[in-house]
Amino acid sequence: MIGGHIDSVPNGGWLDGCLNLLAGVEILRRINDQYGGKPPVTVRLVDWADEEGARFGKSLFGSSACSGNLDLEEARGLVDRDGVRLADALKHVGIDLERAKGSGGELKSVAAYIELHIEQGPVLLDLDLPLGAVLGTFGVERHAITFHGQAAHSGSTPMNVRKDAFLAAAKMSPAIYRMATTHGGVCTIGSCTTKPGIVTSVVEECRITLDQRHLDAVALSRMLEDAKQSSLKFAQEGNVRAAWDRIWRIEPVLFDPRLIDLCTEAIDETCGKTHRLPSGPLHDAAEVARAGVPTVMMFVQSLHGISHNKIEDTKEEHLELCVTAFDRLAEKTMHLIA
Ligand SMILES: [Zn+2]
Repeated sequence: MIGGHIDSVPNGGWLDGCLNLLAGVEILRRINDQYGGKPPVTVRLVDWADEEGARFGKSLFGSSACSGNLDLEEARGLVDRDGVRLADALKHVGIDLERAKGSGGELKSVAAYIELHIEQGPVLLDLDLPLGAVLGTFGVERHAITFHGQAAHSGSTPMNVRKDAFLAAAKMSPAIYRMATTHGGVCTIGSCTTKPGIVTSVVEECRITLDQRHLDAVALSRMLEDAKQSSLKFAQEGNVRAAWDRIWRIEPVLFDPRLIDLCTEAIDETCGKTHRLPSGPLHDAAEVARAGVPTVMMFVQSLHGISHNKIEDTKEEHLELCVTAFDRLAEKTMHLIA
Protein backbone atom coordinates (compact mmCIF):
# COMPACT_ATOMS: atom_id res chain seq x y z
CA MET A 1 0.00 0.00 0.00
CA ILE A 2 1.27 3.45 -0.99
CA GLY A 3 -0.34 6.40 0.73
CA GLY A 4 -0.49 9.96 1.86
CA HIS A 5 -2.96 12.80 2.01
CA ILE A 6 -3.97 15.51 -0.39
CA ASP A 7 -5.59 17.95 2.04
CA SER A 8 -3.67 20.99 3.23
CA VAL A 9 -3.88 23.71 5.88
CA PRO A 10 -5.27 27.23 5.18
CA ASN A 11 -2.51 29.26 3.47
CA GLY A 12 -0.37 26.12 3.38
CA GLY A 13 2.18 25.18 0.75
CA TRP A 14 1.85 23.14 -2.43
CA LEU A 15 3.72 19.95 -1.47
CA ASP A 16 2.22 18.89 1.89
CA GLY A 17 0.67 16.47 1.12
CA CYS A 18 -0.05 16.70 -2.66
CA LEU A 19 3.41 15.28 -3.44
CA ASN A 20 2.70 11.97 -1.63
CA LEU A 21 -0.40 11.17 -3.65
CA LEU A 22 0.80 12.32 -7.06
CA ALA A 23 4.05 10.37 -6.67
CA GLY A 24 1.89 7.34 -5.78
CA VAL A 25 -0.20 7.76 -8.94
CA GLU A 26 2.96 7.90 -11.09
CA ILE A 27 4.25 4.71 -9.46
CA LEU A 28 0.96 2.88 -10.09
CA ARG A 29 1.21 3.98 -13.72
CA ARG A 30 4.77 2.65 -14.00
CA ILE A 31 3.93 -0.66 -12.31
CA ASN A 32 0.92 -1.14 -14.56
CA ASP A 33 3.03 -0.56 -17.68
CA GLN A 34 5.89 -2.75 -16.55
CA TYR A 35 3.80 -5.74 -15.45
CA GLY A 36 1.02 -5.39 -18.00
CA GLY A 37 -1.54 -4.94 -15.21
CA LYS A 38 -0.38 -8.05 -13.28
CA PRO A 39 2.26 -7.04 -10.70
CA PRO A 40 3.67 -9.68 -8.31
CA VAL A 41 1.51 -8.29 -5.48
CA THR A 42 -1.58 -6.09 -5.43
CA VAL A 43 -0.57 -2.44 -5.10
CA ARG A 44 -3.07 0.02 -3.66
CA LEU A 45 -2.97 3.79 -3.29
CA VAL A 46 -4.75 5.41 -0.36
CA ASP A 47 -5.58 9.10 0.11
CA TRP A 48 -6.14 9.44 3.87
CA ALA A 49 -9.03 11.79 4.65
CA ASP A 50 -8.40 14.95 6.69
CA GLU A 51 -4.79 14.40 7.72
CA GLU A 52 -4.27 18.01 8.79
CA GLY A 53 -7.39 18.44 10.91
CA ALA A 54 -7.67 22.04 9.68
CA ARG A 55 -11.47 22.12 9.85
CA PHE A 56 -12.30 20.13 13.00
CA GLY A 57 -9.05 20.63 14.93
CA LYS A 58 -8.19 16.93 15.09
CA SER A 59 -5.52 15.54 12.76
CA LEU A 60 -5.17 12.06 11.18
CA PHE A 61 -8.94 11.44 10.98
CA GLY A 62 -8.95 8.90 8.13
CA SER A 63 -5.84 6.99 9.13
CA SER A 64 -6.77 6.85 12.83
CA ALA A 65 -10.27 5.58 11.95
CA CYS A 66 -8.64 2.88 9.85
CA SER A 67 -6.01 1.96 12.48
CA GLY A 68 -8.71 1.78 15.16
CA ASN A 69 -7.11 4.51 17.29
CA LEU A 70 -9.79 7.13 16.57
CA ASP A 71 -11.58 8.17 19.77
CA LEU A 72 -15.22 7.96 18.60
CA GLU A 73 -16.54 9.66 21.72
CA GLU A 74 -14.31 12.66 21.03
CA ALA A 75 -15.05 12.60 17.26
CA ARG A 76 -18.81 12.78 17.93
CA GLY A 77 -18.24 16.08 19.76
CA LEU A 78 -16.12 17.75 17.04
CA VAL A 79 -17.63 20.90 15.49
CA ASP A 80 -16.18 23.29 12.88
CA ARG A 81 -16.09 27.12 13.12
CA ASP A 82 -19.60 27.39 11.63
CA GLY A 83 -21.07 24.93 14.12
CA VAL A 84 -21.24 22.02 11.65
CA ARG A 85 -20.66 18.68 13.38
CA LEU A 86 -18.05 16.29 11.95
CA ALA A 87 -20.72 13.57 11.81
CA ASP A 88 -22.97 15.79 9.64
CA ALA A 89 -20.12 16.86 7.34
CA LEU A 90 -19.30 13.19 6.80
CA LYS A 91 -22.95 12.27 6.19
CA HIS A 92 -23.00 14.95 3.50
CA VAL A 93 -20.35 12.99 1.56
CA GLY A 94 -22.00 9.64 2.21
CA ILE A 95 -19.95 8.47 5.18
CA ASP A 96 -21.33 7.28 8.51
CA LEU A 97 -19.01 8.32 11.37
CA GLU A 98 -20.29 5.44 13.49
CA ARG A 99 -19.03 2.97 10.88
CA ALA A 100 -15.76 4.79 9.98
CA LYS A 101 -13.64 2.38 12.00
CA GLY A 102 -14.94 -0.46 9.83
CA SER A 103 -12.41 0.75 7.22
CA GLY A 104 -9.80 -1.07 9.37
CA GLY A 105 -10.75 -4.27 7.54
CA GLU A 106 -8.92 -2.86 4.52
CA LEU A 107 -5.62 -3.07 6.43
CA LYS A 108 -5.90 -6.81 7.14
CA SER A 109 -4.27 -7.87 3.87
CA VAL A 110 -1.66 -5.10 3.79
CA ALA A 111 1.89 -6.51 3.93
CA ALA A 112 3.70 -3.17 3.79
CA TYR A 113 2.96 0.55 3.70
CA ILE A 114 5.23 3.25 2.23
CA GLU A 115 4.76 7.03 2.24
CA LEU A 116 6.71 9.90 0.69
CA HIS A 117 6.64 13.32 2.35
CA ILE A 118 8.51 16.60 2.41
CA GLU A 119 10.65 16.85 5.55
CA GLN A 120 9.02 20.06 6.86
CA GLY A 121 12.18 20.74 8.90
CA PRO A 122 15.81 21.81 8.24
CA VAL A 123 17.78 18.59 8.89
CA LEU A 124 18.34 17.45 5.27
CA LEU A 125 18.86 21.07 4.18
CA ASP A 126 21.61 21.54 6.79
CA LEU A 127 23.29 18.29 5.68
CA ASP A 128 22.91 19.33 2.03
CA LEU A 129 21.21 16.00 1.25
CA PRO A 130 18.15 15.62 -0.99
CA LEU A 131 16.60 12.51 0.62
CA GLY A 132 16.37 10.65 3.92
CA ALA A 133 14.92 7.41 5.31
CA VAL A 134 12.62 8.00 8.27
CA LEU A 135 13.17 5.91 11.42
CA GLY A 136 9.81 6.65 13.02
CA THR A 137 7.85 9.43 14.65
CA PHE A 138 8.65 11.03 17.98
CA GLY A 139 6.81 10.11 21.15
CA VAL A 140 5.38 13.18 22.86
CA GLU A 141 4.85 14.12 26.53
CA ARG A 142 2.89 17.34 26.95
CA HIS A 143 2.31 18.75 30.44
CA ALA A 144 1.33 21.93 32.29
CA ILE A 145 3.38 22.77 35.38
CA THR A 146 1.97 25.29 37.83
CA PHE A 147 4.17 26.83 40.50
CA HIS A 148 2.27 28.22 43.50
CA GLY A 149 3.97 30.94 45.57
CA GLN A 150 2.71 34.06 47.31
CA ALA A 151 1.80 37.48 45.95
CA ALA A 152 3.66 40.29 47.76
CA HIS A 153 4.44 43.95 47.27
CA SER A 154 7.37 44.44 44.91
CA GLY A 155 8.74 47.33 46.96
CA SER A 156 8.33 46.25 50.55
CA THR A 157 9.17 42.52 50.29
CA PRO A 158 12.91 41.76 50.79
CA MET A 159 14.38 39.40 48.23
CA ASN A 160 15.23 36.67 50.74
CA VAL A 161 11.66 36.17 52.04
CA ARG A 162 9.80 36.02 48.72
CA LYS A 163 7.88 33.02 47.46
CA ASP A 164 8.30 33.87 43.77
CA ALA A 165 6.48 31.36 41.53
CA PHE A 166 8.00 32.90 38.39
CA LEU A 167 11.57 32.43 39.63
CA ALA A 168 11.04 28.67 40.01
CA ALA A 169 9.37 28.45 36.57
CA ALA A 170 12.12 30.52 34.94
CA LYS A 171 14.81 28.13 36.21
CA MET A 172 13.07 25.36 34.23
CA SER A 173 14.08 27.00 30.98
CA PRO A 174 17.87 26.39 31.05
CA ALA A 175 17.20 23.02 32.74
CA ILE A 176 15.10 21.67 29.86
CA TYR A 177 17.69 22.79 27.28
CA ARG A 178 20.32 20.85 29.23
CA MET A 179 18.17 17.70 29.46
CA ALA A 180 17.33 17.83 25.74
CA THR A 181 21.08 17.86 25.02
CA THR A 182 21.79 15.08 27.54
CA HIS A 183 19.08 12.73 26.24
CA GLY A 184 19.15 13.72 22.56
CA GLY A 185 15.50 14.79 22.30
CA VAL A 186 13.69 18.11 22.04
CA CYS A 187 12.01 20.09 24.85
CA THR A 188 9.96 23.27 24.59
CA ILE A 189 8.32 25.57 27.10
CA GLY A 190 5.66 26.98 24.81
CA SER A 191 3.69 29.20 27.14
CA CYS A 192 4.03 31.02 30.44
CA THR A 193 1.27 32.85 32.30
CA THR A 194 1.52 34.62 35.63
CA LYS A 195 -0.94 35.72 38.30
CA PRO A 196 -1.65 38.34 39.42
CA GLY A 197 0.43 39.41 36.40
CA ILE A 198 0.94 43.04 37.40
CA VAL A 199 4.16 45.01 37.47
CA THR A 200 4.10 45.71 41.24
CA SER A 201 3.59 42.19 42.58
CA VAL A 202 5.75 39.15 43.16
CA VAL A 203 4.20 36.30 41.10
CA GLU A 204 1.81 34.15 43.11
CA GLU A 205 1.08 31.57 40.43
CA CYS A 206 3.05 30.73 37.30
CA ARG A 207 1.86 28.14 34.76
CA ILE A 208 4.19 26.89 32.03
CA THR A 209 3.58 24.23 29.40
CA LEU A 210 6.23 21.66 28.56
CA ASP A 211 6.41 19.66 25.30
CA GLN A 212 9.02 16.87 25.21
CA ARG A 213 9.69 14.59 22.23
CA HIS A 214 11.98 11.65 21.58
CA LEU A 215 12.12 8.65 19.26
CA ASP A 216 13.16 6.37 22.13
CA ALA A 217 10.47 5.60 24.74
CA VAL A 218 12.97 5.03 27.57
CA ALA A 219 14.85 8.26 26.86
CA LEU A 220 11.51 10.12 26.67
CA SER A 221 10.45 8.88 30.09
CA ARG A 222 13.88 9.81 31.50
CA MET A 223 13.53 13.34 30.10
CA LEU A 224 10.11 13.59 31.74
CA GLU A 225 11.47 12.28 35.06
CA ASP A 226 14.35 14.82 34.90
CA ALA A 227 11.85 17.62 34.33
CA LYS A 228 9.78 16.49 37.32
CA GLN A 229 12.87 16.32 39.56
CA SER A 230 14.00 19.77 38.38
CA SER A 231 10.60 21.31 39.10
CA LEU A 232 10.62 19.87 42.64
CA LYS A 233 14.17 21.10 43.24
CA PHE A 234 13.43 24.64 42.02
CA ALA A 235 10.16 24.72 43.97
CA GLN A 236 11.99 23.74 47.14
CA GLU A 237 14.78 26.29 46.54
CA GLY A 238 12.20 29.04 46.13
CA ASN A 239 9.85 27.91 48.91
CA VAL A 240 6.98 27.40 46.43
CA ARG A 241 4.95 24.35 45.34
CA ALA A 242 4.89 22.63 41.94
CA ALA A 243 1.83 20.81 40.48
CA TRP A 244 1.81 18.75 37.26
CA ASP A 245 -1.08 18.10 34.82
CA ARG A 246 -0.74 15.91 31.76
CA ILE A 247 -2.16 17.56 28.62
CA TRP A 248 -1.47 14.79 26.09
CA ARG A 249 0.96 12.01 25.33
CA ILE A 250 1.75 9.52 22.59
CA GLU A 251 4.30 6.72 22.39
CA PRO A 252 7.08 6.87 19.79
CA VAL A 253 6.27 4.88 16.64
CA LEU A 254 9.19 2.97 15.13
CA PHE A 255 9.17 2.06 11.47
CA ASP A 256 10.08 -1.40 10.14
CA PRO A 257 13.87 -2.12 10.13
CA ARG A 258 13.76 -4.12 6.86
CA LEU A 259 11.82 -1.37 5.10
CA ILE A 260 14.16 1.30 6.51
CA ASP A 261 17.04 -0.67 4.95
CA LEU A 262 15.22 -0.88 1.60
CA CYS A 263 14.47 2.84 1.75
CA THR A 264 18.15 3.59 2.46
CA GLU A 265 19.17 1.37 -0.50
CA ALA A 266 16.69 3.05 -2.83
CA ILE A 267 17.97 6.50 -1.87
CA ASP A 268 21.62 5.41 -2.15
CA GLU A 269 21.06 3.99 -5.65
CA THR A 270 19.32 7.20 -6.72
CA CYS A 271 21.62 9.90 -5.40
CA GLY A 272 24.63 8.16 -3.84
CA LYS A 273 24.17 9.48 -0.30
CA THR A 274 21.58 9.06 2.36
CA HIS A 275 20.68 9.83 5.94
CA ARG A 276 18.35 8.32 8.54
CA LEU A 277 16.30 10.69 10.64
CA PRO A 278 13.27 10.70 12.95
CA SER A 279 10.12 12.67 12.18
CA GLY A 280 9.06 15.41 14.58
CA PRO A 281 5.57 15.83 13.10
CA LEU A 282 3.06 12.96 13.16
CA HIS A 283 1.99 11.43 9.85
CA ASP A 284 -0.65 8.98 8.58
CA ALA A 285 2.21 6.45 8.36
CA ALA A 286 2.46 6.47 12.17
CA GLU A 287 -1.18 5.36 12.42
CA VAL A 288 -0.65 2.58 9.88
CA ALA A 289 2.44 1.41 11.79
CA ARG A 290 0.47 1.49 15.07
CA ALA A 291 -2.03 -0.86 13.41
CA GLY A 292 0.80 -3.37 13.04
CA VAL A 293 1.56 -2.92 9.32
CA PRO A 294 5.33 -2.80 8.49
CA THR A 295 5.83 0.82 7.45
CA VAL A 296 8.46 3.27 6.29
CA MET A 297 8.54 6.87 5.09
CA MET A 298 10.91 8.71 2.77
CA PHE A 299 11.62 12.44 3.28
CA VAL A 300 12.70 14.92 0.63
CA GLN A 301 14.47 18.13 1.59
CA SER A 302 12.36 21.24 2.30
CA LEU A 303 13.81 24.58 1.21
CA HIS A 304 13.94 27.05 4.15
CA GLY A 305 13.09 24.00 6.35
CA ILE A 306 9.56 25.41 6.41
CA SER A 307 6.09 23.93 5.90
CA HIS A 308 2.46 24.90 6.60
CA ASN A 309 3.34 28.18 4.95
CA LYS A 310 3.09 29.56 1.39
CA ILE A 311 6.90 29.68 1.13
CA GLU A 312 7.07 25.87 1.52
CA ASP A 313 9.07 24.57 -1.47
CA THR A 314 11.48 21.90 -2.71
CA LYS A 315 13.99 22.14 -5.59
CA GLU A 316 12.66 20.66 -8.82
CA GLU A 317 15.70 18.39 -9.14
CA HIS A 318 15.03 17.05 -5.63
CA LEU A 319 11.38 16.40 -6.52
CA GLU A 320 12.54 14.32 -9.48
CA LEU A 321 15.02 12.43 -7.27
CA CYS A 322 12.39 11.70 -4.62
CA VAL A 323 9.88 10.27 -7.09
CA THR A 324 12.61 8.12 -8.67
CA ALA A 325 13.88 6.87 -5.29
CA PHE A 326 10.35 6.28 -3.99
CA ASP A 327 9.55 4.30 -7.13
CA ARG A 328 12.65 2.14 -6.46
CA LEU A 329 11.46 1.65 -2.88
CA ALA A 330 8.04 0.52 -4.16
CA GLU A 331 9.68 -2.01 -6.48
CA LYS A 332 11.98 -3.37 -3.74
CA THR A 333 9.06 -3.59 -1.31
CA MET A 334 6.95 -5.55 -3.81
CA HIS A 335 9.73 -8.10 -4.21
CA LEU A 336 10.32 -8.30 -0.46
CA ILE A 337 6.72 -9.38 0.20
CA ALA A 338 5.94 -11.22 -3.02
ZN1 LIG B 1 1.51 16.12 5.42
